[in-house]
Amino acid sequence: MSILTEHDKGVVQKQFRDLLKHAPRVTKKTERDMIRKAFNFANEAHENQKRKSGEPYILHPIAVARIVAEEMGLGTISICAALLHDVVEDTEYSLENIENQFGEKIASIIDGLTKIAEVFDQESSLQAENFRKMLLTLSDDVRVILIKLADRLHNMRTLSSMPPNKRMKVAGETIYLYAPLAHRLGLYAIKTELEDLSLKYRHPKIYNEIEKKIKLNEKRRLTEINRFSLPIIEKLDRVGLSYEINGRPKSIYAIWNKMQTKKVSFEEVYDLLAIRIVFEPSKDLPEKTQCWNIYSLITDIYIPKPDRLRDWVSKPKINGYEALHVTVMGPGGKWVEVQIRTTRMDEIAERGYAAHWKYKSRDTHESELDLWIKRIREMLEDPNSNALEFIDEFKLNLFAAEIMVFTPKGHIKSLPKNATALDFAYEIHSEIGNQAIGAKVNHKLVPLSHVLKSGDQVEIITSEKQKPQRDWLQYITTAKAKSSITKSLKAETKNRIDIGKKRLEEKLKELSVRPSSRVFRKLLPAYEVLNKDE
Ligand code: MN
Repeated sequence: MSILTEHDKGVVQKQFRDLLKHAPRVTKKTERDMIRKAFNFANEAHENQKRKSGEPYILHPIAVARIVAEEMGLGTISICAALLHDVVEDTEYSLENIENQFGEKIASIIDGLTKIAEVFDQESSLQAENFRKMLLTLSDDVRVILIKLADRLHNMRTLSSMPPNKRMKVAGETIYLYAPLAHRLGLYAIKTELEDLSLKYRHPKIYNEIEKKIKLNEKRRLTEINRFSLPIIEKLDRVGLSYEINGRPKSIYAIWNKMQTKKVSFEEVYDLLAIRIVFEPSKDLPEKTQCWNIYSLITDIYIPKPDRLRDWVSKPKINGYEALHVTVMGPGGKWVEVQIRTTRMDEIAERGYAAHWKYKSRDTHESELDLWIKRIREMLEDPNSNALEFIDEFKLNLFAAEIMVFTPKGHIKSLPKNATALDFAYEIHSEIGNQAIGAKVNHKLVPLSHVLKSGDQVEIITSEKQKPQRDWLQYITTAKAKSSITKSLKAETKNRIDIGKKRLEEKLKELSVRPSSRVFRKLLPAYEVLNKDE
């Protein structure tokens, strides 16, 4: 006996039909049939559940599937997985049921989503960076992350029906974890919406105030941008440059964030217009020169503010950002920031991720990551591209070169692949490493040479009598462990030499022999050693 009324059922059917209408990638009848099957399965599984708002629960998976289809442009597999995403976690159905009905691929996506939910519930204090890594490690399919983000986006859109104390937790996680994740994946519209929604619940007063002020000022802003840009456009056209110029409005969150970090008023942030010029550089001149040429062109029209010049063309920011920023006095005596970038620089600025990554280009997985993000962006931006096949095949093994392990207290440490328990010991502290005698991995006793796997929980057993051993060098991979061990071994050798030297001197003294090089020339061959240290 269902708890849903006839009216509820009607709403559910209508929402499902709308989903199919807004799934541009779903074109074949077989695909529609598959989605309908997933819907029927989920609908039955969630039959007796309601959301906090009192709506039938199934409306949530339908909405998530719609974000996945419509806003992310994903296809049948993702839509099915989105429809089924809460089944294993929240109903009696198991992963095996899903696999039997929908095959291995969909089941593995659901498995990833369920695992993330579990980790997240336990480890609510996870650091943002670790969270992102964890997410990427746990999910060997990009779609897991995308569906997780869609899930979070819908939860944020419907957050008002949650109890207030829960709202703050969800909104907090969103701003610290999910928005940066969306940012790194290049999902900028979703990132901005997550940020704004999070602010709305965390600081409703501020949010409403800024929103109101933006509406009041929008028209004036556009007029100002046009007035400012027209002379520049004229000049750029005259030199025959291929470029785009725009003055995108800042989001509510971006404005607030700037007010906070720069400690300034709304007006001071909002009034500072920012224009971006992205141009296609010609092959004849260095990009840097061309940026400065545009700078010169703009400052022919408007007077620059010298202390606001930012030259990240000659020397990029640490995160890889390149651009020339100049602030000039616009018409009406207002400062206007102009960002000058080539299309290549713009792409770097948009992708942003790679440069943050701790390994530099010598490691291949950074370029894999780059490639992946680029491809995902291309696919998401171009609804007609055929990159979907790519996403179907692509396995997210970006972090195959890295493993995540836990301390007994649940903190995450990242180590290179093939790292051993001894590497882990040195990762915690060099003294722990130096005194390590064994380890417990997932509560089982193992030798220090034991190779760790992602997800292992590792505890190091130490003894004050222990000292670094020479053969340890054979089973460590981290530079940290290596340098600690070599250092201790050297110190120990030096210590032994000192003792030996002292003893020899005493003995020679007893025999009234002065330690001269002549004496040593006789001693060394007699004891079959090659040098004084030995
Ligand atoms: Mn959900």
